[in-house]
Amino acid sequence: MRVATLALLAAQGVYAAAPAASPAAAGGAHSAAPAAAGASSKGASSHASGPDPDDVTNWYIIKCLLWAWLAVAGSTIAYTMYMHSVRYIRTVACLNDHNQKFFARPVGWQGALKKHIFDAPLFRTRHHREFRLSSAINNVGTLPSRLETIWILSYVAVSVALTVMNIKWGLGTVKVCEQVIKRTGFMAIMNMIPLFLIAGRNNPLIGLTGISFDTYNLIHRWLGRIVAVEAIVHGAAWMIEKVYKGGWAAVAKSEKTSSFILSGTIAACAFTAILFQSPSAIRHAFYEVFLHFHQALAALAIGGLWVHLEKFQHQREIIMGVLAIWCAERVIRLVRLIYRNVSGSPTKAEVELLPGDAVRLTLHMPRPWRFAPGQHAYLYIPSIGWWSSHPFTVAWSEDSVSDVEIEKGLSVSTVSRLDVLAPRKATISFIIRRRTGFTEKLYSRAVREPGGRFVTSAFAEGPYGDGHLMHSYGTCILFAAGVGITHQVPHVRDLVIGYNNGTVAARRVTLIWIIQAPEHLEWIRPWMTEILALPRRRELLKILLFVTRPRSTKEIHSPSSSVQMFPGKPNVQSVIDQEVEGSTGAVGVTVCGVGGLADEVRKGCRAWMGKVNIEFVEESFSW
Ligand SMILES: Cc1cc2nc3c(=O)[nH]c(=O)nc-3n(C[C@H](O)[C@H](O)[C@H](O)COP(=O)(O)OP(=O)(O)OC[C@H]3O[C@@H](n4cnc5c(N)ncnc54)[C@H](O)[C@@H]3O)c2cc1C
Repeated sequence: MRVATLALLAAQGVYAAAPAASPAAAGGAHSAAPAAAGASSKGASSHASGPDPDDVTNWYIIKCLLWAWLAVAGSTIAYTMYMHSVRYIRTVACLNDHNQKFFARPVGWQGALKKHIFDAPLFRTRHHREFRLSSAINNVGTLPSRLETIWILSYVAVSVALTVMNIKWGLGTVKVCEQVIKRTGFMAIMNMIPLFLIAGRNNPLIGLTGISFDTYNLIHRWLGRIVAVEAIVHGAAWMIEKVYKGGWAAVAKSEKTSSFILSGTIAACAFTAILFQSPSAIRHAFYEVFLHFHQALAALAIGGLWVHLEKFQHQREIIMGVLAIWCAERVIRLVRLIYRNVSGSPTKAEVELLPGDAVRLTLHMPRPWRFAPGQHAYLYIPSIGWWSSHPFTVAWSEDSVSDVEIEKGLSVSTVSRLDVLAPRKATISFIIRRRTGFTEKLYSRAVREPGGRFVTSAFAEGPYGDGHLMHSYGTCILFAAGVGITHQVPHVRDLVIGYNNGTVAARRVTLIWIIQAPEHLEWIRPWMTEILALPRRRELLKILLFVTRPRSTKEIHSPSSSVQMFPGKPNVQSVIDQEVEGSTGAVGVTVCGVGGLADEVRKGCRAWMGKVNIEFVEESFSW
């Protein structure tokens, strides 16, 4: 937001200063115009006494774009704040209300909006289920949701309109090219501000707008495509103009002799390369390779633009802003990493092999970790993955008093009394499912180690995640598939503890976990044992386990009426119908797992939107 304001001021600064001191103030945009057009010195001389009208129009367009972004961001923030207030009021109002009838009623317009726009897939059901080409290429993308599609189409339409607006098409090839060169140049660099702002893990808009990193990644990809296309059109228009005037020899000569042209070409080529290296299939198949090339190409593009815009002071300021955003994000990451892991004894990771191709990783952190459901952290384990970092959901967390106290031989009761004053540490745990890269190496190392356990140095960066808590719903339905349970376990613990303490509206919580084999239960056994031992949990919590590939029916047995096990997959719609029919107050449904399950759950919820007060929350493990 700060950078957006900076850009706005830059745009206004140009405006204010241009008429008064054209050669200097508009110098960046105006006096360098010949360079932008390659050799259009006529353009410069014809406006020697005032600002170039093309530039005035271009800055005006950029300003409009900026206001449009601020309007969209502002209205989303306002809506998010409204929803936060609604949830807060609902939680407080329902603390001692066991019927919660008032909040069970749907709010008509909201139900319709959620059903048809906010939570709607593009067509009938499909949104997060990946398209597959073959078993080897198993993720060639997903279908954007209806709201995402509306956003994408609107933004592309606005970009095309702004790119061609006020271009005087009748002035002949050279003049048209000159206008197009400038306009596309402006559009490309201006779009780089949000492109870089929303690319980072520390994007401030995630918290402010409640939009997930996953969705911001989608927006980032489309902004990137627009920037790349603008850059390509920019270069193509320059080339057409050059060939028109002096043939291909003139193009070659400019590339050889002008650092301005060469640097622009490098930047445009870098953007084009990004366009071709970032499709979903490549990203998912070779994530680390993709990421490193992506960052190198982005740096090359910025470097190229920096040289290219040497004589364009104001445009260069925008690039400086973009660079500042990128560097600030990296610095914040570094600070978080150092703060979390470097204090006295450094972070240690205890890795333990689990059945079902997974490991439990427990981090002993030197500093406290303010744990909340829905958090994830980026793990760095140099002995396994060098400097690469991977996101994993924090499945469990415990505070502990300093080891020093324990080493000093203080009794447990003394330690408890010292608890409040002692320097607190935290242990946070993750369940990591084996995939093919970093996770495969981690798993293989655990397999090789005696007892399937080892300790190694690690670093955690976080916590991240928008943390949509389930406190305000009288009825909570939590769906998980496989390792997606890591997202739901903290919610379950949070709700049962909250129910006991009287700090949540929840009166009915149902966890539905779909696993392939019963041994996967082992992943969360110690934590579930703790949750099941909490007072009054039977009044609140029901667990439904679905085992999709049991080896025999003997494996399927329900330990109690509140923990039931079934073979096969659940009928998601029936489960939701049953829970909603017996619900109390507002219903919150959350899902974490494979895309296909998320789509089914969304469909099940949409069937009730407008009839009851129901909200759907999705957590995805991929972007
Ligand atoms: C918010 C979030 C929370 C997650 N929580 C868990 C969890 O609790 N337990 C768990 O087992 N998995 C979790 N994942 C998935 C986990 O991050 C990936 O499985 C892991 O990074 C794969 O590493 P790999 O090198 O073995 O991947 P590969 O086998 O190379 O690729 C497998 C998939 O993981 C994706 N991937 C690879 N590296 C990264 C990365 N650095 N960042 C994002 N995606 C990547 C790839 O695009 C591909 O789709 C989570 C993912 C996200 C985004």
